Amino acid sequence: MMPRLTAALPDRSWVEIDRAALRHNLKAVRKFSGNAGIMAVVKANGYGHGLTEVAAVMRHSVEIFAVASLGEALLLRKTETRTPILLLSAALPDEYREIARHGFIPTISSLKEARLYAKNAPRRAPIHFKVDTGMGRLGALIDEAEDTLQAIARLSLTIQSISTHLSSADSDRATTLKQLKEFERLLPLLRAHAPEAKVHVLNSAATMLYPDRSGDLVRAGLALYGISPIPRFQKLLRPALAWKASVTFIHDLPKGHLISYGGTYTAPRNLTVAVLPAGYADGYPRQLSGKGASVLIRGKRCPVLGRVTMDQIMVDVSAVKGIKVGDEAVLVGKQGRQEITATEVAQKADTIPWHLFCGITARVAYQYKG
Ligand SMILES: *Cc1c(COP(=O)(O)O)cnc(C)c1O
Repeated sequence: MMPRLTAALPDRSWVEIDRAALRHNLKAVRKFSGNAGIMAVVKANGYGHGLTEVAAVMRHSVEIFAVASLGEALLLRKTETRTPILLLSAALPDEYREIARHGFIPTISSLKEARLYAKNAPRRAPIHFKVDTGMGRLGALIDEAEDTLQAIARLSLTIQSISTHLSSADSDRATTLKQLKEFERLLPLLRAHAPEAKVHVLNSAATMLYPDRSGDLVRAGLALYGISPIPRFQKLLRPALAWKASVTFIHDLPKGHLISYGGTYTAPRNLTVAVLPAGYADGYPRQLSGKGASVLIRGKRCPVLGRVTMDQIMVDVSAVKGIKVGDEAVLVGKQGRQEITATEVAQKADTIPWHLFCGITARVAYQYKG
């Protein structure tokens, strides 16, 4: 156990979540989705934005929440008692009874899962039926989907929704159109066995690129947090998350001095270097080492020098006038006229903004405003 702290401590590294931005993004997604409702994807602690806080902002604007697992659903249910909750990942058989007890909606891909669920659930318990049109993760294969759903429809379950998942909505139009076409061809056959079921297909990228295919609900994640998977739509969204840290130490290092583990960076001239209390243990990717990443201090871009360490990074502040210990550094977000986007940081780390967000760890403090 950590010793009990008697005084409130200043945050060393913290995330600020802008609730007004979340509300703005809900409206923006609704503009794309038209008459379709919104399934707000809040898995992985609301994409690292904080499950409870994000859900509280969204609850009156969305039809349903989606999480990955039973554990996440139980956390969400503590504050969200009215809005239905869908489990996107397959459940373990030992979780079925608990899922049914709380009325969560499990994703079912096969007759085998459906039979087992029906044994553990009350009559007419809601389920979600998924078709695999090319993702190769969950879902009944296209050729088997109709027979499977017909058999499931004979069990005492309510087929509450039907979906498929696009594998390449933000990267490959031909593949995406093929998946959409296959699903739309199948849909009337499926609907015959589940006339009441709601249909949802589109993730954030597809909601923006294929708004006329929205079905009854769109399954939006990333866009709700203000990051567009499609760069040309970014201006319609407002990033809700900023990540900041306070400068803890400043020193002058002479030309030729090595910086950080492995000595991969040599000061090319005399440098003023600031140390920030955030590293890969906070979720700042170690893969950013030597990749030209920067942070903002006093409105200036300051390059990250050498390797990202577990708890700290070093940045070049030679061009920052008047820098002091305690100054605010922005790792992700805006300062003055400069902005470092989650997309930029993710790209430099060879990953995606989804991964960056859900990699922010519990050591980072959370502040909510708006
Ligand atoms: C995570 C997830 C989404 C949301 O995707 P975004 O690209 O973040 O909008 C939608 N559907 C499924 C099945 C998912 O797992």
